[in-house]
Amino acid sequence: MTNPVYNFSAGPATLPKEVMLKAQAEFVDFRGIGFGLIEASHRGPAFQQIIDEAEADLREIAGIPDTYSVLFLQGGASTQFAMIPMNLMVDGKPALYADTGAWAAKALKEAKLFGDARAVFSGKQDNYTTIAPSTEWEGMTGDAAYLYICSNNTIFGTQYHDVPEIDGVPLIADMSSDILCRPFDVNKFGMFFAGAQKNLGPAGVTVVVIRKDLAERAKASIPTMLNYNTHIDTGSMFNTPPVFAIYMVGLVLKWIKEKGGLAAMDKANRAKAALLYDFIDHSDAYYGPANPANRSLMNVTFRLNNPDLEPAFIEQASAIGLKSLKGHRSVGGMRASIYNAMPKAGVEKLVEFMADFAKKNA
Ligand code: PMP
Repeated sequence: MTNPVYNFSAGPATLPKEVMLKAQAEFVDFRGIGFGLIEASHRGPAFQQIIDEAEADLREIAGIPDTYSVLFLQGGASTQFAMIPMNLMVDGKPALYADTGAWAAKALKEAKLFGDARAVFSGKQDNYTTIAPSTEWEGMTGDAAYLYICSNNTIFGTQYHDVPEIDGVPLIADMSSDILCRPFDVNKFGMFFAGAQKNLGPAGVTVVVIRKDLAERAKASIPTMLNYNTHIDTGSMFNTPPVFAIYMVGLVLKWIKEKGGLAAMDKANRAKAALLYDFIDHSDAYYGPANPANRSLMNVTFRLNNPDLEPAFIEQASAIGLKSLKGHRSVGGMRASIYNAMPKAGVEKLVEFMADFAKKNA
């Protein structure tokens, strides 16, 4: 038997094996229609059923009430950085941003193009290793248009474990790298969104969940494709949607349901993350830069005490089938992305290799 390969890429990222096999089996002849879904009209019955089921499954899994719209958009999570201020800023009110990492900083920078956007917190001076409690943030006014957070900071390996709140101010979250990793209360959010390519499926589709009354804020002068109401009114079919990416998201959602939903994801993710963090905490050779209270369940960042050994670590890990462990180019070190689809066996193999590497290089 060949050694299994585990892909720790931060995104696009590993998908459930069952999903990959199902997509392969259906690729050329989609459920007996005689051609592939990738070749089918987005206005045809096959795709309509796919998108309807994907929305219904997402609503069921996350508990999304009818007061919210579920949208499947293009342009990546990065396009949301512009659409959010364009649609949801309010004249005379600031938009508040928690700068907890590169993606939050990009969202803030984009918002500043459109109006009064302010940082209520910045972790930059701590190299984004910490998310201070929101009780310590500054300028948290109840007169804000919205409060924006990035729920999981993919590059730095930090994650919120409590949701900040300001009474009466809609909370908006970029959940690109942790959506559906654990149960969460949708009602605390005015909007959340995620590029699919980590926990939901392939790149090419961005899932947006937005409270309908919030979308009504959008001014008529916003370009049609960038106005949330365009996509709400047309069921994400104003133009050709990313058919195949949505289909893959649908398969991933069915996989999550089969596995037992968000409670099961949470349990498995906590077990995987604990394996890695416990090993790192008890090791003389490795350390984790992220503040323990803010550690991510999804992206585990770690370093060797001797950083000169890091290139050899990454190379030797890759040689035995532990792929894409290199940290983001802006921070260096290592990062193991252990999204929903990463099997526990992959993390066990990684920990085994880490122990072995430390012993050989002691
Ligand atoms: N937000 C977060 C938290 C991310 O991790 C990423 C991508 N890695 C993005 C936004 C940007 O996503 P996209 O490439 O889909 O624009």
